[in-house]
Amino acid sequence: MFAKQLFNTYENFKELKLLNRRFKHKDILSLIVNRNPDIFKITEIGKSFEDREIFMLKTGTGKRKVLLWSQMHGNESTATQAFFDIFKFFENPGILHKEATEIINSCTLYFIPMLNPDGAELFQRRNAQDIDINRDALKLQTPEGNLLMQYRDIIHPEFGFNLHDQDIWYSAGKTKFPATISFLAPAYDTEKCMNENRKKSMQLIAEMTEVLQNFIPNQIGRYSDDFMETAFGDNIQKRGTSTILIESGGFPGDIEKQFVRKLSFTAILSALYSVSKNNFEKKSVSDYESVPLNKKNNLFDFILRDAVITRNGKTYTADIGIRSRSLADKDIYEVFDIGDLSQNFAYSEINLNREQINDISIGQNADYLIEKHFNNPNLI
Ligand SMILES: [Zn+2]
Repeated sequence: MFAKQLFNTYENFKELKLLNRRFKHKDILSLIVNRNPDIFKITEIGKSFEDREIFMLKTGTGKRKVLLWSQMHGNESTATQAFFDIFKFFENPGILHKEATEIINSCTLYFIPMLNPDGAELFQRRNAQDIDINRDALKLQTPEGNLLMQYRDIIHPEFGFNLHDQDIWYSAGKTKFPATISFLAPAYDTEKCMNENRKKSMQLIAEMTEVLQNFIPNQIGRYSDDFMETAFGDNIQKRGTSTILIESGGFPGDIEKQFVRKLSFTAILSALYSVSKNNFEKKSVSDYESVPLNKKNNLFDFILRDAVITRNGKTYTADIGIRSRSLADKDIYEVFDIGDLSQNFAYSEINLNREQINDISIGQNADYLIEKHFNNPNLI
């Protein structure tokens, strides 16, 4: 099976110049311009608000056009890393040569890596105008969003891959399992109607879900399909491109999301192969609907249960929930919630059995709690 071969031989394709979540435009420039020109045609399609070049990499000669864009949100870099792995795959597929050839003979692929380089510079969601590009699909006031829509309209792709990262506290259904990969076939109207294009998005997602079940059973989620008037996925779906949202989420022990990157690589290439063989047509809308809905804010990085907290000379019993927060250069851990967290789960948790904790408050740095109560804080 192609997906298993991809997964098992991934190390042959991994771009070793990118090994963690924080990297900048300058870190990927040479990885773009030095690609094998026999495989990739590179075009600078425009510039960001702060004049960083945005590129499109094109490969393949087939009739099925697929547009893939990553990192519209500057701090969501997992799929950008997976793109560079995918580029290496097409340049040197090794034992998977036959499948790679089938994809590029059936499809023409257009990749836009790091659509928001200014946001990536600061590892922040928004662009340098402080606009969330993914709420700019109608007004197109961001140069980056404008470029994406402009090229969507020039290329008129059959499929669009809208690639993001979601926070790691979503679970797949109301379970303790993180939604390591989540999908959405966006609606194109408020009534959430169905047409052939949207059905194809759902079928392709069902195919990717089946593939990923081999590697992360129970850790695949689905987003609510409420129509968002100003978002790109919804509007690109509306313009007739079957759009697939993939969100890279959390996995235990994978702070830098390198395992999630591998899953993303496997899912995207499996989907492209499925398009080239039309395999996804065997899937149904109900296959898509059987993927559990994500539950937001269900998880914490750490929970300390059943603490006795002292404040103002009084004591009370509560659970303490800790979450990480990403800054430009590092992650910090903070007390995020105090109270009854019996309905929540954590990547790591401990029962304090009524141990006393002095003077704790929301927003407080939690490093000392993690160091004291968890042997290996890098476990999450
Ligand atoms: Zn995003």
